Formats: sequence, C-alpha cells, structure tokens
Amino acid sequence: MNPLKPVKVSIKDIKTETNDVKTYVLSLKDSFKALPGQFNMLGYPGVGEAPISYSSLVRNGYFEHTIKAVGRVTRFLDGLKIKDEIVLRGPYGRGWPMNKARGKDILLIAGGVGLAPIRPVIQIILEKRDLFDDVSLIYGARNEKNMLFIDEFDKWRKGISLYLTVDEVANLPVFSTGKRRSKGGWKHSVGLVTYLLDKVKIKPDKTFVFVCGPEIMMRFICRGLLMTGIASSRIYVSLERRMKCGIAHCGHCQHSGLFVCKDGPVFSYRDVRGLPDGLL
Ligand SMILES: Cc1cc2nc3c(=O)[nH]c(=O)nc-3n(C[C@H](O)[C@H](O)[C@H](O)COP(=O)(O)OP(=O)(O)OC[C@H]3O[C@@H](n4cnc5c(N)ncnc54)[C@H](O)[C@@H]3O)c2cc1C
Repeated sequence: MNPLKPVKVSIKDIKTETNDVKTYVLSLKDSFKALPGQFNMLGYPGVGEAPISYSSLVRNGYFEHTIKAVGRVTRFLDGLKIKDEIVLRGPYGRGWPMNKARGKDILLIAGGVGLAPIRPVIQIILEKRDLFDDVSLIYGARNEKNMLFIDEFDKWRKGISLYLTVDEVANLPVFSTGKRRSKGGWKHSVGLVTYLLDKVKIKPDKTFVFVCGPEIMMRFICRGLLMTGIASSRIYVSLERRMKCGIAHCGHCQHSGLFVCKDGPVFSYRDVRGLPDGLL
C-alpha cells in the first residue's frame, strides 16, 4: 500500500452538530483498523487536504469524522451532501495510550471540537467498561449550542461521570467563578474547564489524563494537573500542527526533532513540556 495514495470514499450520512461543525459517516470496503486518537488526511481533488481525527471507532468498515468549518478545505467539505465522494488517506499517527490506562482511572478533558478525538475513547470505555476503573469527562465549550454530541451525553453518563461547563450563558460572557447558574436553563458550570479540576477526585498514582482542545486551554490544564500531584508522564495531549504529508516526510509539522504527524499527534506531556519552540 502506498501511504500517500488517497482512496475515494462516499459520504453515507451527515449529522449537524453545531452551526459550523458536522459529523460525516464514511465507510470503506477493505477491512482496516484505526486507534482512538489517530487521524486521516481528508480532502477533495483540486481543493486540498486537512488532517482530521477519527471521531468514532471503526465498526464493520464504518467510521466518523467530525469537522469544524474554518478555512479552505473544511468549508468545502462543509458544503458536501450525502453520497458525495471525498478522498482520504490514513490512518496516521499515534493514538491515546488505551493499553496503559487499563485497570486505571481515566480523566478525559476536552474543549470545543477537541471532544471529537476523545469520543472514540469514550466509545471503547463504554464497550469494555470492566477494563477501566473510574472514568470522568470534563468538557467545556463556548456555550451550550457549541457543544458536540450533546444527544449522547445521557448514554455516556451510564459509565462515565460528566462535568460540563460553558464560557457564556444566553450569549452573556461570564468571566470567572465556575459556580452553577440556572440562567438560560443551563444547569451545569459556567467558567473555564480548569475550574472543574477541583470537582474530580484525582488519584495521582492511579489516573491517566487525556486532554484535547485549544492549545491555551491544554497549557493551563496541564499546569493545573501537575499541581494535583499527577506526573507529566501520565498526562497525554493531542496536538494540532499544520501538516502536509502525514508520514514525517515533508517536515511541515516538525518541532525540536518531533514530528507531530508521526510521533504524535498524541504525546505525553512529559515529552512536549517546555520544548524550546513552545509545543505546549
Ligand atoms: C492531527 C490533527 C487532527 C485534527 N482533527 C480535527 C478534527 O477532528 N476536527 C476538526 O474540525 N479539525 C481537526 N484538526 C484541525 C484541522 O486539520 C484544521 O482545522 C484544518 O486543517 C484547516 O484546514 P482548512 O483548509 O479548512 O483551513 P485553512 O484555510 O488552511 O486555515 C484556516 C485557519 O485555521 C488555521 N489552521 C489550519 N490548520 C491548522 C492546524 N493544523 N493547526 C492550527 N491551526 C490551523 C489557519 O492558520 C487559519 O487561521 C486537526 C488537526 C490535526 C493536526
């Protein structure tokens, strides 16, 4: 197989998550495996490609990608319909360390569209609930309308403790607090995800943490986590960098000897903390 050769795939279904995020259901005939946290290069001939994480497990050849329309490629994909064909290559990269986390507590922390690469982790945990101990998810978004997969939360709650927060309620930004408010019907927290760290019981020697979201959020979360006593080697982050080839040939995503596409996108915080060019 040529890892740079894209395959055609038709869109089986599209689900609108928010005003600028959609989930695409795709399928491939040939059997293949993809690990939670890995990504595909997704694109359209003549338009370009973008790295997009798997937002679901692969089951019977079916899998999902959840994409926020931000620029040239992703806006083009946003305009496609069911049965349209796109091209993809992958899966690429290193995923979340699910094996290491067996028998341990897992704390998942996501911001905005960063919940997409965490969702297959949640699906595995729910499928094989006995393999893991306490599992919690802290998820924050700008407001309730910007939250992904909201209709799955009740199902997730059957195996996972959910802690939700928004930056603003009824379009009014609320700076600070992290206190519960009932404004606009929102019954969960208001404030940054970092405030919710206090609500979760973290056992430093037993917990693995997987974090994905805007870089500024990950930076503060990782610092906050260190203060709980958890080692940087137990904290994993999924990094976003501009990439072209996806297989560590072109060097677009290279930093301090690390290729985000091949050595990552999931890294332990220990490995990327304080690198000179600011990986995190
Ligand atoms: C490993 C990996 C997994 C990703 N998974 C997802 C996912 O599951 N869902 C999703 O919606 N997005 C994901 N992204 C981000 C997605 O790749 C970018 O949004 C996309 O490449 C933008 O391409 P574009 O042509 O639409 O935008 P462009 O026209 O290229 O750029 C639009 C804006 O986005 C910025 N930008 C573009 N690419 C990146 C990047 N890689 N990192 C930071 N800023 C960027 C540009 O600087 C510009 O401001 C992932 C990125 C990586 C590296």
